[in-house]
Amino acid sequence: MITVAELADGVRADKRAVLARAITLVESRRPDHQALAQELLLEVTPGPDAPIATRVGITGVPGVGKSTTIEALGNHLISLGHKVAVLAVDPSSTRSGGSILGDKTRMGTLAVNPRAYIRPSPTSGTLGGVAKATRETMVLMEAAGFDVILVETVGVGQSEVTVANMVDTFTFLTLARTGDQLQGIKKGVLELADVVAVNKADGDHVVEARVAARELSSALRLIHPRGSLWRPPVLTQSAVEGTGIPEFWDAVLRHRSTLQEAGEFDRRRRQQQVDWTWTMVRDAILGRVEHSDGVRSVRSEVEASVQDGSLTPALAAQRILAAFDGR
Ligand code: GDP
Repeated sequence: MITVAELADGVRADKRAVLARAITLVESRRPDHQALAQELLLEVTPGPDAPIATRVGITGVPGVGKSTTIEALGNHLISLGHKVAVLAVDPSSTRSGGSILGDKTRMGTLAVNPRAYIRPSPTSGTLGGVAKATRETMVLMEAAGFDVILVETVGVGQSEVTVANMVDTFTFLTLARTGDQLQGIKKGVLELADVVAVNKADGDHVVEARVAARELSSALRLIHPRGSLWRPPVLTQSAVEGTGIPEFWDAVLRHRSTLQEAGEFDRRRRQQQVDWTWTMVRDAILGRVEHSDGVRSVRSEVEASVQDGSLTPALAAQRILAAFDGR
């Protein structure tokens, strides 16, 4: 049995086999593994003076070019001297058991680079569980010296909000869409985005991409009025050709320094830690309610009554909580 101290030393020395074991530990739902994982996280959490890694979220619909962008961006960052970790939060994998994100075959050159580490999404558990594992994995990667963490997610359900709350800069990739097609972009994701990039701006699509970027930029101005601390730029790029990738990274760094100068960067990170704490409390309580004997015994009957209209949702919620309280 490897000890927590040995795990911590191995992680700090970036021994990949140890790192993989440590990540498996934080992903495990076994209570004894969870306890060890928390000890390990306390052991490797850096002091206040340690350098702070840059955490970047990347979202967009399947096919927009997230993997291709991560491959191009990752290689660019490594050429600048960074060490890059790629993690994924993939809500579909928690249902299907198969991860479509963070797939190493789609990031061929990055996957074999010793200065990169690609970890697919954990394939079991709730979105909350996956998010917890990903956050804790980020801490391990930072302890191993990775100074840029890229977190990929698809725009499904709550996953974007979840990832936006664990990174410093949240980026949104889209394709050239103008006019009515703009309506198809979820407003919620635009509100979360710190940097927007129109991908596949190559070949015959360069002009189209620029027009789309201008329109998106106007849409964003409505969300972030003049005088806002940060107004998200809308860039164009081609991940396959690599054009616009250095500019994408420059925008991430500008966002970071703007927040830092305003004292907002630290505040945001501290707030994320507090929010995370409460998220875990909520998840744990919900789990207790759902799995309690009382709730199990009334659940199907209450759900059926809500479906046939004989009980309102508010009354049904009261019934469920009463069953949990044992009344
Ligand atoms: P993801 O599902 O968002 O990760 O998208 P992928 O990175 O797998 O890309 C989906 C498809 O679009 C692949 O066939 C890529 O080669 C292609 N693609 C990605 N980026 C670009 C780009 O900048 N220009 C063009 N023309 N094709 C791209």
